[in-house]
Amino acid sequence: MSLPVGDRPRRPEWMKVRAPSADSLYGDVRKLLHGQHLHTVCEEAHCPNVGECWGRGTAAFQILGDTCTRACRYCNVRSGKPQNPPDPDEPRRLAKAAAEMKLRHVVVTSVDRDDLPNRGASQFAATIHALHELLPDASVEVLTPDFAGFEEQALALVLAARPEVFNHNIETVRRLHARMRGGKASYAGSLQLLARAGEVATGPVATKSGLMVGLGETKEEIAETLRDLRDHGVEIVTIGQYLQPTPRHTPIDRWVHPDEFESFRELGRELGFSSVFSAPLVRSSYRADEQHLAISEP
Ligand code: SF4
Repeated sequence: MSLPVGDRPRRPEWMKVRAPSADSLYGDVRKLLHGQHLHTVCEEAHCPNVGECWGRGTAAFQILGDTCTRACRYCNVRSGKPQNPPDPDEPRRLAKAAAEMKLRHVVVTSVDRDDLPNRGASQFAATIHALHELLPDASVEVLTPDFAGFEEQALALVLAARPEVFNHNIETVRRLHARMRGGKASYAGSLQLLARAGEVATGPVATKSGLMVGLGETKEEIAETLRDLRDHGVEIVTIGQYLQPTPRHTPIDRWVHPDEFESFRELGRELGFSSVFSAPLVRSSYRADEQHLAISEP
């Protein structure tokens, strides 16, 4: 049950973020991305880490426009009917920007595009190809939607382009999934997609997923979700505090203490994940280069 607005605890000290410093790369990254007319989930989702991530010269690209065909109750990305077809020049511009940013690990995500025949999978594939061509030494991480109704074909398309990391967020525990994500998404379907990604891949690919806490789930349900992800072959997991983006979104149920995040990290390691990033401000793409490095270094 959520607390009434007046009774909700104030944002704790551990959730406070620092503004980007003047001598960081923040301004350069902003100018470059806007100049290339590229979207990032950092801005679209009002991510609290934007100062830190852009300040260190990293970002998470969002392809296929700024309008999502779903309306998840925790997400701030604009929802509606996308007006434009995929931009065929977007993969090239994105790769050029990633090269200018000298990225060693590139994260590419998208809005959901249930309006497209292949749900946008071909744009993911084209983007991976463009990145590998221009940045042959960089690893590519795709954070994909569930490709509902087109899962097998989409996985074949995306994985044939050989991303180094296939990421799909489970987002929340089984009990809250339908309420938070709506009828098109399914907890079991997301697990199945992750398992199939490992099976369909023709080359080495790490599978990754993430969830938010503070939406009303119990510790036991979080543990169950971690076990489910592991049972479906997921190797990297991220756990972070849910933040209510606007008053019309689902309210925060509770602020999860950093010690509890540490206990999730320990549980994740016990369950056999190769990398567990669990902390209040962790997001799926937060320090994704380090998450990938943690499993790729001998
Ligand atoms: S955590 Fe991810 S979405 Fe947030 S600013 Fe960093 S790269 Fe962008």
